[in-house]
Amino acid sequence: MDAWIIYLVIICISVVLWLFTFISIWRMKRYATILFDLLPFYPIIVVIGYIAIITCSILWLDNLSWILPLIFGMFLTVLMLYLSVRWINGYRLKVYADFLDRLNDDKYSVKVLSDYFVQKTIDPDKINVFIRHDVDLFLRRFSKLINIEKEKGIKSSIMIRLHSEKYSFEKAIPLIKQLSTEGYEIGYHYEVLAQTKGNKEKAIQLFAEELAELREIVPITVIAAHGDKYKNREIRPLINLKELNIYSAYDIKSDMYLSDSGGYDFIRRFGHHLFEELEKAKKGDVVQILIHADWWL
Ligand SMILES: [Zn+2]
Repeated sequence: MDAWIIYLVIICISVVLWLFTFISIWRMKRYATILFDLLPFYPIIVVIGYIAIITCSILWLDNLSWILPLIFGMFLTVLMLYLSVRWINGYRLKVYADFLDRLNDDKYSVKVLSDYFVQKTIDPDKINVFIRHDVDLFLRRFSKLINIEKEKGIKSSIMIRLHSEKYSFEKAIPLIKQLSTEGYEIGYHYEVLAQTKGNKEKAIQLFAEELAELREIVPITVIAAHGDKYKNREIRPLINLKELNIYSAYDIKSDMYLSDSGGYDFIRRFGHHLFEELEKAKKGDVVQILIHADWWL
């Protein structure tokens, strides 16, 4: 095989690696965790992409004409390294653990969602924090996150899917039963419109069936829609929540709603970490914090 074909293949592979990293960082694409679980390796991928391109340039190009790709490549590499490390750093489990330590301060009162809807225990002298987890893809990552909450003595509300692409609901049953007995709140992360491919009548019926199925395992008081191209939340106004004795997490009147949806780079969005936003909350405020464990490493 001609040498130039090998160079071409190496260059193509490195360009793909670079583009993958670049688009992930820029568009904050969820495939970064869904397909490859690669987030911690982004800096390494960027460097491999760089070395491959430079090696090919030196071997392939004449004289000193490889200097230009070398300089340009170095610039891009440093930029992507900086952005990827900054992005990943925001999602370290250590950051979450430190945040929970902060929440253990006397000025906060951390509760589960049914405290808001059923017990109505809003403390006017404290910042009322409700942590919600949408368990979308990885039970493994969720378990790590929830273990930190157990360590810190923090209780949260956990929205569980019945049709995740990555975990089986049946396998999650022992965990959710245990969490429920430990004082965590389990909620229904519904996706009935996606399940019925947009058929609203069927979706309403399926909602009641799945809710009943979940209630045979643990008490369910709260629901939240799973984000999908079928926009599952659109079914909510058509469902008689009162009749089903259920509340939607979206009906909380929050003074502040902090979310990591999409796994965006916090610094790029706020200029500081998401959790720093909480500093703006006042006594008596209701703050809902949505965390997707899939992003946390
Ligand atoms: Zn979801």
